[in-house]
Amino acid sequence: MEVIDFSIGRPFFDTPSIIKEETKKALDMGLVHYTGSAGILELRNAIVERVLIDKGVKYNPDEIIVTIGGSEGMFAAIQTLLSPGDEVIVPDPMYVYYKGWISFTGAKCIPLPLKEDDFSLDIEGLKKNINSSTKMILLNSPHNPTGSVFSRQDLEQIAKLSKKYDLFILSDEIYQRITYDNCKAISIASFPQMKERTIISDSFSKTYAMDGWRIGYLAGPRDIISQIAKLHQHTISCPNTFVQIGAVAALNQSQRSVGDMIAKFTQRRELTIDYLRKMNISFVKPKGAFYVFPSIKEFNLSSEEFANYLLEEARVAVVPGSAFGNSGEGYIRISFSPSYEEIESGLQRMGKAIKELRKNKLGL
Ligand code: PMP
Repeated sequence: MEVIDFSIGRPFFDTPSIIKEETKKALDMGLVHYTGSAGILELRNAIVERVLIDKGVKYNPDEIIVTIGGSEGMFAAIQTLLSPGDEVIVPDPMYVYYKGWISFTGAKCIPLPLKEDDFSLDIEGLKKNINSSTKMILLNSPHNPTGSVFSRQDLEQIAKLSKKYDLFILSDEIYQRITYDNCKAISIASFPQMKERTIISDSFSKTYAMDGWRIGYLAGPRDIISQIAKLHQHTISCPNTFVQIGAVAALNQSQRSVGDMIAKFTQRRELTIDYLRKMNISFVKPKGAFYVFPSIKEFNLSSEEFANYLLEEARVAVVPGSAFGNSGEGYIRISFSPSYEEIESGLQRMGKAIKELRKNKLGL
């Protein structure tokens, strides 16, 4: 039986054709040589416009760096801003690479467990973790792996604390436009005096199904961005030239493709949570991204054992929650990005396997 893959962290859609067409034209026109290391002005201008619409923050083109996806941008920002001994507070569970990026600088990643009942931020816990070594808070909303979207009130509290203790905010907004039920993911950079201390990382990977194209951007205040730009230039010279033309097309198109993709994700989310309800599995309804992070604590298995069980018994692949940090133990991440049909048959199989497990292990 073929494995159904619920572990994928990318949209299960093709890149919209207009983006491909414009990129092909760029290649045919000979746009195959280096550009400036921060990216072409046309793209940075288009990013400035988009950021103002989506995030409500006004940047100049010289406050934008076009990066090789969110990954390179965040890596460069972290390497530039942190020194050995610094501490970075990161909501836990967290995206798998954060801890490594931070450790590489000699700084320390301080995990801040999200509240278990709704995966919201624990502001009191955050206050307790701030000390004289704290340099940065790394936020990711909508959140991978839980699908949580941090509330305005909590972000306001964080903004206040970051100003009081003079902390940087690195805001990973890669899923910002993928939200449900009219929920809006707010950028902390839009609060008063927060642009000065916030670096936004965003990417074309999810919004435009361009994960393999490797393109994203950083936005931040000029003095910080100009420092990050040095490391960026010395590492990559410049982002891929014709891919930048594709990114301009992504931003300048009607944006219908984004709405269509979110409409499909919305249906897939409904289907997934319907099945989880039928299975009697406890979960928090995701407000953004395309993941749900159900609890598997009732089974008394580690999340890795549970994921292996599902792979063997149901031929479905999920990510064990422990991959995302200590607070992820006891959970699995299910991506509802696969097709409707695949989700349906995968979750039916999962339902059967869980029924068996309850019967054999728990005697239910
Ligand atoms: N941050 C988060 C939260 C992610 O989920 C991902 C991709 N899965 C990235 C950053 C990196 O994305 P990319 O480098 O493709 O832009």
